[in-house]
Amino acid sequence: MSEEVLARMRRKFFPLYLIGLLASLIFLAHLVLNYIYTGKEQYLTLSMLTGLFSAYLAYSLAKLLRTKIPIYSYRKVVRCTQCGYEEEAEAKGGEILFENAGSCPKCGGEMIVQKIYRKKQLKGILG
Ligand SMILES: [Zn+2]
Repeated sequence: MSEEVLARMRRKFFPLYLIGLLASLIFLAHLVLNYIYTGKEQYLTLSMLTGLFSAYLAYSLAKLLRTKIPIYSYRKVVRCTQCGYEEEAEAKGGEILFENAGSCPKCGGEMIVQKIYRKKQLKGILG
């Protein structure tokens, strides 16, 4: 899954579950009150069903909130061959290990690409 898919899921499903859950909870409260005031059995049966449905929605919502997907970014470390000064930045692609990466801002010596690595970050539904 990419970040874009995650954003789409967030936009689409999160409000749906939330509205569904709120609506079924209001409906449930209404049924329970009806049962208390009228004492009719069918309100109790309906409120049990609605209760189950609300619990299912709450569970789905909790699962959605717990979902985390890994987002990868590429980083590079450039290091001065003269003084050892290091800089870390996002790799833009096309970098080659140990290639020249400009001159050192501290001593003017040659900087080389020391490391290129992939950084993993976990992102949840709500960002
Ligand atoms: Zn230097």
